Amino acid sequence: MTRIVAGTTYPFVMLLGIVLHTLLSTSGASILMATYVPILTGAVIITGMEHSFYYRKEWSGKKSDVAQDGLYMLLVQVILPKLVTVGIALTLLETFKDSQSSISHYWPHGWSITAQVLLMLVSGDFLRYWLHRASHEWPLLWRFHAVHHSPHKLYWFNVGRFHPLEKCLQMAFDTLPFIALGVGGEVLALYLVIYSINGFFQHCNIHLTLGPLNYLISGPELHRWHHSRLVKESNQNYGNNLIVWDLIFGTWFLPPSREVGALGLINRNYPLKFWPQLSTPFKKGLDKATDQQ
Ligand SMILES: [Zn+2]
Repeated sequence: MTRIVAGTTYPFVMLLGIVLHTLLSTSGASILMATYVPILTGAVIITGMEHSFYYRKEWSGKKSDVAQDGLYMLLVQVILPKLVTVGIALTLLETFKDSQSSISHYWPHGWSITAQVLLMLVSGDFLRYWLHRASHEWPLLWRFHAVHHSPHKLYWFNVGRFHPLEKCLQMAFDTLPFIALGVGGEVLALYLVIYSINGFFQHCNIHLTLGPLNYLISGPELHRWHHSRLVKESNQNYGNNLIVWDLIFGTWFLPPSREVGALGLINRNYPLKFWPQLSTPFKKGLDKATDQQ
């Protein structure tokens, strides 16, 4: 039973999200409803599975952790993107108001929605791969990205833990180009459903085995290694939705016969709460400080 659940949960929930989105879209529901109902459905199922089929009991989120993650989810993942997106849209409108020409003809608007979403996934992941890799290899960017690597455990609700400035940088790579290209709302909505459900799975504390999908999708088995406390293990598996760019650029990492050890940063005294973490990137060396643990 556990083996069947481990092997089928990811494709089942992802497919459910896509089908729900399609049904709602074609039955006249608003684009917001068609986007957020599948995402919330995925979140509810994954929350239930984390209780019944957990990967590591000690990775369960305590109330204090969840409260901090809730602040990140609300302020950095919901409110900030809305503000940034509106700002970008207004700026683009202003830029192109006197001009008939725009860069939107570079995007294949005539393709099917599925083909456009696939193109978004492959190209968006390419840009995010290099941003993510640079965030690990360039010390200044790492100081911001260290916030995301600070938790000592993984469960779906801490997937949104990013410093607000890093979130803006990510949007410059995986949102701004597509808004500038005039990608349609239906395409963005389906992309967001896949992006969100995959993100929840990446961080989830569920015993899952993706099998051959580990050569296509950046899922939990790969992403756990990316959060290892050992730098040589964590500087791998940079993929956001897909893992293909890691395969191409030599950073795919999944040891066959052992499990990941401790997660988080070298410095076990790195602050873990929302408000103190807003200033941690500005304290040089904090992420690297060692202790006796
Ligand atoms: Zn990372």
